[in-house]
Amino acid sequence: MTDLYRLLPEEMEQLVMDMGYPRYRADQILYPLYYKFPKEISELKQLPKIMREELITSGYTIGSTHETHRAVSDDGDTTKLLLNITNGTSVETVLMQYPPSKINGHPRSTICVSTQIGCAMGCVFCATGQMGFEKNLKAEEIVAQVIHFADILQQRGEHVTNLVFMGMGEPMANYDEMIRAVRILTHDRGFGIGQRHITISTIGITSGIDKLAEENLQIGLAISLHAPNNKLRKKLVPTAGPNSVEDIIEAGRRYYKKTGRRVTFEYALMKGINDSPEIAKELALILKGNGSHVNLIPINPTAGDFKRPTQDSVLEFERILYNAGINCTVRVEKGIEISAACGQLRTDIVG
Ligand code: SAH
Ligand code: SF4
Repeated sequence: MTDLYRLLPEEMEQLVMDMGYPRYRADQILYPLYYKFPKEISELKQLPKIMREELITSGYTIGSTHETHRAVSDDGDTTKLLLNITNGTSVETVLMQYPPSKINGHPRSTICVSTQIGCAMGCVFCATGQMGFEKNLKAEEIVAQVIHFADILQQRGEHVTNLVFMGMGEPMANYDEMIRAVRILTHDRGFGIGQRHITISTIGITSGIDKLAEENLQIGLAISLHAPNNKLRKKLVPTAGPNSVEDIIEAGRRYYKKTGRRVTFEYALMKGINDSPEIAKELALILKGNGSHVNLIPINPTAGDFKRPTQDSVLEFERILYNAGINCTVRVEKGIEISAACGQLRTDIVG
């Protein structure tokens, strides 16, 4: 069985031509796939009936997603879904909406997708990490998460504006399927989202960062650093392995040099662990001068012992970075009451 959402537009053309049909038939599949969101091949009405039947008998499908759980934040801006994809895989996907910007008046609708079920990196503060690794998602299963929300948004007269790879899993540990999904989602005959509207978040797998830099894509990169030195980082990211803090920052620099895209360092703040003024100064020192941006994330409490720092210590941390000339923002709280931190919903529901 092959899901039509797995195929790049060029592969779709090859498929229809191999079946003996003219090239333009590919667009009669691609257009509905990315603008009408059909659930079955029989809905591809522009194709001759015989061609639809041939597709089905040759083992082509349109993968199904169905919601097994939906949680909406009190303000209605965050929707978190547990989706059942194809063969019973239960995956978590989040929609975060932001009010229209003053500049262009458009609301922002960001989808946060998962790339794996569970994660092998084992970060001690992360619900997904505590689950362990279950499996890699296929490109079509990543695409399906976006399509599911695109369908919901379209029914409200809205559309997906941004995409972040910050759900369950480590994107660089499922590189080939992740990049195939990115190519389908950014292709102008595929989903067609702008490359600059996508951000990949990684725990800092430098080989993956270097590979991504060579893809000739204009996508944003976020690196989850969480600590300014190797001793502390190893405690928080036990599998940090051969990638030292210095290596990671250097890889971020190379990415910026190659793509021109600014790199964001994510820093989950945990009370009494990595939120002291001394640590802020150490972080400022290692990041100084490379034009990077820091996103501070006061932690969402998970099953572990980690606590969210006080508002004052977050502000103090931010002030130290700011005074050292480092661009810094504090992540706006979204959906904490619906366990919107990565992996939390699935842990609550599936266990
Ligand atoms: N594996 C990738 C992408 C998924 S995690 C990565 O680690 O970057 C996406 C982001 O969620 C990371 O920055 C991670 O640090 C953050 N995160 C994980 N658990 C969290 C929690 N309990 N509270 C707040 N942020 C969390
Ligand atoms: Fe994996 Fe990212 Fe969670 Fe770490 S923070 S366990 S890398 S999903």
